[in-house]
Amino acid sequence: MSELETLLERCEVLYRDSSLAAARDWKEETGGLAIGYMPIYIPRELLHAQGVLPVALMGGGDDVEIIRGDAYYQSYICHLPRSTIELGLNGSYDALDGLLFPAICDVIRNLSGMWKLQFPDKLVRYLDVPQNFDPEVGGRFYRHELESLSADLTARGARPYDAEALRASIKAYNENRRLVDDLYGLRRDQPWKVPTSEFYLVLRASLVIPLAESTRLLRDYRDASLASERQPMDQARVLLVGSFCEQPPLGLLKTLERSGCYIVDDDLAQIHRWIQGDIAEEGDPLQNLVDAFLEQSIASPVRYIDEETKGAALVERVKQSAAEGVLFCAPSFCDPALLDQPMTSAAVEAAGIPWTAFKFSENTGQFQVIREQAGTFSDSIKLWSGE
Ligand code: SF4
Repeated sequence: MSELETLLERCEVLYRDSSLAAARDWKEETGGLAIGYMPIYIPRELLHAQGVLPVALMGGGDDVEIIRGDAYYQSYICHLPRSTIELGLNGSYDALDGLLFPAICDVIRNLSGMWKLQFPDKLVRYLDVPQNFDPEVGGRFYRHELESLSADLTARGARPYDAEALRASIKAYNENRRLVDDLYGLRRDQPWKVPTSEFYLVLRASLVIPLAESTRLLRDYRDASLASERQPMDQARVLLVGSFCEQPPLGLLKTLERSGCYIVDDDLAQIHRWIQGDIAEEGDPLQNLVDAFLEQSIASPVRYIDEETKGAALVERVKQSAAEGVLFCAPSFCDPALLDQPMTSAAVEAAGIPWTAFKFSENTGQFQVIREQAGTFSDSIKLWSGE
């Protein structure tokens, strides 16, 4: 087995391990706290600086049988909260000392309430993030949220806040983010070297292990991908958008690739790229976290963007990634993604960019229809683009 195959095999084990063995092992070794978080954004740097392991929770994918989860939710909402509550109730998340629920949508807000009722002994926090980006309004509010989160962690046994520790954590996460950016750049330039179905496993695995290990993993994958002898194929370059929270099953990503698409940009596992670029390393590190959130957050349906400019960032990303078309790929019943789609698809249409749309659920098992749709889309791009 090649080094790359060994690395990917390990990533797939981590990706599929809903009982969080890596977090359990880390806790046994260090005695530290492990805190889970829901998509999309939490200040991982702050947790890391206080000696806490942040663990990304992104639903159960297509591996988890929902037995009790459906009883907690009506039929017309997305799948992610059902599998999350299922995994909580069946003990898969027992290793976690708490869960953070960042403000994404009403579903996540409701889930945080259910979690409080079901797991009264654990830390459960709804992390409200600002939708007003004025430093004097949203900035002050968010700083207060961070201070309060830090105090909650300390009360649970984490190390107290220390500015120098946070500065070091910001540096370490900047390095991690730069590697992710390198990989996105490599895939944009040579997508045959970084197949998305593979890259995605690395992105997911790197969010459930300690940071130093995550950085090593990203570097090893980058080096192995660069060294690979894979040859380009005649595929259409597409940007995949809409899967920022509930994640598509791995089989769906493989299906898109097999249907003739090179995914050259996406919003999968978006916490990796929520903050664009480095967070400042000089000055007050807590304020740097606040400023980065206000000024460097990615354009996302869960972040306030004026209707006049909605879609502009997507069009810009299409240009930057030299994508030839956009696949709108949102989870069924995802309000933030599907309410944005008419406006963002209109912006894409106005820019003359081909697009198509379909929906998925994390446990979708049949891909034939999507395969035909994506295959037709990529064929039409190859046949008629540039005319
Ligand atoms: S998939 Fe969409 S609706 Fe469901 S929790 Fe995530 S953002 Fe909310």
